[in-house]
Amino acid sequence: MWSVLAHLSLALAAQDQSPQAPSTSWRTLRFDYVHCGTANAEQIAPTGFRIEGEWPGSRTQLVEPYDTGKYRLRVHDKQTGQLLWSRGFCSIYGEWETTGAAKEGWGAFEESQRFPEPARPARLVLDKRAANGAFTELWSGEVDPSSRFVDRSALPRAGEVLTLRDEGPAATQVDLLVVAEGYTQAERAKFAADAQRLTGILLATEPFQRHAQRFNVRGLFVPAAESGLSNPRKGVWRDSAFGAAFNSFDSDRYVLTYRDRVLREAAAQAPYDALIVLCNERKYGGGGIYNLWATATSDSEAAPYVFVHEFGHSFAGLADEYYSSQVAYEAFQPKGVEPWEANATALLDPAKLKWRDLIDPQTPLPTPWDQAAYDAVDLAYQAKRAQAIAAQASEERQEELMRDIKAQTAPLLAKEPQRGKVGAFEGAMYEAKGLYRPEVDCIMFSRNPSSFCRVCERALERTIALYTR
Ligand SMILES: [Zn+2]
Repeated sequence: MWSVLAHLSLALAAQDQSPQAPSTSWRTLRFDYVHCGTANAEQIAPTGFRIEGEWPGSRTQLVEPYDTGKYRLRVHDKQTGQLLWSRGFCSIYGEWETTGAAKEGWGAFEESQRFPEPARPARLVLDKRAANGAFTELWSGEVDPSSRFVDRSALPRAGEVLTLRDEGPAATQVDLLVVAEGYTQAERAKFAADAQRLTGILLATEPFQRHAQRFNVRGLFVPAAESGLSNPRKGVWRDSAFGAAFNSFDSDRYVLTYRDRVLREAAAQAPYDALIVLCNERKYGGGGIYNLWATATSDSEAAPYVFVHEFGHSFAGLADEYYSSQVAYEAFQPKGVEPWEANATALLDPAKLKWRDLIDPQTPLPTPWDQAAYDAVDLAYQAKRAQAIAAQASEERQEELMRDIKAQTAPLLAKEPQRGKVGAFEGAMYEAKGLYRPEVDCIMFSRNPSSFCRVCERALERTIALYTR
């Protein structure tokens, strides 16, 4: 319990409690904290509350109707207990704790949650999914919005907000904010062009294309002192605005930033539902964490794929459907537990499969595919890729390898008898066995298609609805 704010809220006990009182000011309240721990301990250390601008999200979809995320924030009216807001999310901490580093010592990561400012004192509860898949309370605290502990100072003016696509009011649109990272002042026009190009590709991909009129796109241009990103594996260090860098969790292409506070303060200048940090780089890379943000580099050959794939993670919490690529996670998904992600299943009970309604009755479960042939090709590629990374091979050489694996796996998957069918194909979420994906191929599985499978499409569509109703 957060005692400082808990006792302050007592002073408000006598205020107007009439049921007609609005439950929110429709301003955005940001809750900042540090999420820290080891493999055996986990703590939430609050650092402050901040008023941003007008609430950009839906004014009717305040309580999440789905069961998503490794974590979940609930906001309750303190007096009545009424649930005012809930959202599932994932976090850098939540990934870090599954790496070997968590067994060796503590890690600490800045995090934020944003929700409509409650009109009265509220109780915040942060839940974490337990090993059995059910949410349990990790932390709770209180906030009195009228207290002196809520920062109401003017938002910083850093850089420039560019309107790239304006289709309607923030409350009923999905508001994307593309944040420039690693672009110098001289590269402002390049940022605007890169943001237009890549969001254009995203909005030309289904299901976004059929809902494109429900998307606003803005860019936040904060010039960097130097062009490009830090790449520690090559000894390259750059002074960029938000500190995004390659080699997160010692994974060559994984791009994250640990400067949440700096990023949130800058982003608060524009209304946004979803953040994409667009990194000015030739090298392949990106990352996407559910209800946090996505990162993607601008100029690799596969930039369109990375941009759309990572947005699938950050926007709708889609799982990686691939399983052999090198990742730093150990035991990402507990055995025998159904993943919460919409597009992966442990197939514990085929009759209750969450995408059962999309499967033809004739399609067998699990759905057969030639996994051995695919794995043979993929393993050979992974070995070459590891060699190329170790040898610090050029980006062109690595792209050659990617074209090669595509040329080999695309025909293999194309001749699968169950291709195009929704079923349950073994191999998903970093596991070759025991976890299943909905179609034989999908942009969450490989770089071959430029489209999502039908199960991913449905999850994305229901997420769009959460912002536009
Ligand atoms: Zn999919």
